Amino acid sequence: MASELRIHAGRAWIDGAFRPAVIDIADGVIVAITDPGDGEQGDAEPGTAESTGAPATGIRPATRPATVIVPDDAVLLPGLVDSHVHVNEPGRTEWEGFRSATRAAAAGGVTTIVDMPLNSVPPTTSVAALRVKQDAAAASAFVDIGFWGGAVPGNLGGLAPLHEAGVYGFKCFLAPSGVDEFGHLDRSGLEAAMAEIAALGSRLIVHAEDPDHLHGDGALGRGYAGFLASRPPESEEAAIDAVIAAARRSGGRAHVLHLSDGRALPAIRAAKAEGIALTVETCPHYLAIVAEDIPDGASEFKCCPPIREAANQDLLWQGVVDGTIDAIVSDHSPSTVERKRAGDGDFGLAWGGISGLQVGLSAVWTEARTRGIPLSTLIPLFTTGPAAVAGLAEAGRIAVGTPAHLTVFGVDDALHVQARDLRHKNPISAYDGRELTGRIRRTWLRGVPIFDVEDVEDVNAASAAPAGRLLTAPHTERIAV
Ligand SMILES: [Zn+2]
Repeated sequence: MASELRIHAGRAWIDGAFRPAVIDIADGVIVAITDPGDGEQGDAEPGTAESTGAPATGIRPATRPATVIVPDDAVLLPGLVDSHVHVNEPGRTEWEGFRSATRAAAAGGVTTIVDMPLNSVPPTTSVAALRVKQDAAAASAFVDIGFWGGAVPGNLGGLAPLHEAGVYGFKCFLAPSGVDEFGHLDRSGLEAAMAEIAALGSRLIVHAEDPDHLHGDGALGRGYAGFLASRPPESEEAAIDAVIAAARRSGGRAHVLHLSDGRALPAIRAAKAEGIALTVETCPHYLAIVAEDIPDGASEFKCCPPIREAANQDLLWQGVVDGTIDAIVSDHSPSTVERKRAGDGDFGLAWGGISGLQVGLSAVWTEARTRGIPLSTLIPLFTTGPAAVAGLAEAGRIAVGTPAHLTVFGVDDALHVQARDLRHKNPISAYDGRELTGRIRRTWLRGVPIFDVEDVEDVNAASAAPAGRLLTAPHTERIAV
């Protein structure tokens, strides 16, 4: 098939390394990847760099593809994968919706998200609820979307039908979730869900905080230290120990969501070394923000588990560098400004969740640079890592035969974050006012532009029809139990 779009990049992320490449795209799929030194392909001219339409003159053959040149101060990446996003539609659409969330994703270089089963109403704990969610997403998705199901008290028998309907796995909480309609599992519930999910060949993803170690309910005051003390590291460690034990007994796959406590990493390392099918993610806010910098009353920084101290952050970065941590994902969990400011900055009353879908790579890269950690260490954690966590077969790679989901990251670009400029629904974010280094410049979904930083009026994206697809999990993978 003739190439319709050709992208030249001096540094493209292919097979786990940066290298020069010419990428040819036809019908939304990558059809060829060649070395620019290979004769025919190395013919792009700087003057065509901005061209994404048909050639303007008759000099060239009509079949010549539109050409984009990625400049040397930027890298071409596979579209990023974010396996932890709370879209909240339907039911709490005033908090966040598919249109605003997926436009924020596109601006953050993210071309595939997996939606969490709670905060929407109904929560995704039955096939009927999944259908409601898919219907809401169908007409509004600017990026591809898969769905997690929920494992809650009383729906054990509903997990197999949800699995067959194509959810990528099941989320459970071991402590109260924050919304009444999504209950948490006790230890026997965890064991039962883990056994059932292992038998299905699916995966259990766990909000790992142990309620026995959590203190305080209701108002906690405006002091961040008081909030932090109410959710100590022991709560994560105890819960993660329980997850590891359940995974060991069942032989199934388990995933620890949003790890904040670096002291839990030794247990996770040991479990992996033992051969337990365990993965773990952390989030940009845990890697880029420390408790010492959070002002009292600044409830935009509230999330659970909480952002901890600088010494703890160093441990998390060790886990990134040594490969223990499998993925860095946003845990984008917005609410209205009013809800996020509830109680006038009282950390017990405000909604717990951080809005960071659009700035994840920039935030983490900014911190990595100060630590001397190369971009190549981070990219797998934003691409193949979360794709593997969710079992997404085609996302997160630049490879022949895969959808042409691509993004350009200006590695030295300055990014002054202002919450009002971010595309998620409500203009509040823990990143407001931060000066970051590195910024997404362009994003393509199946070879079609869905974000361009130069398009300041956002004309193209605003007028474009949402072309994201609803993804369903294949069921070919079964693991012995
Ligand atoms: Zn979450």
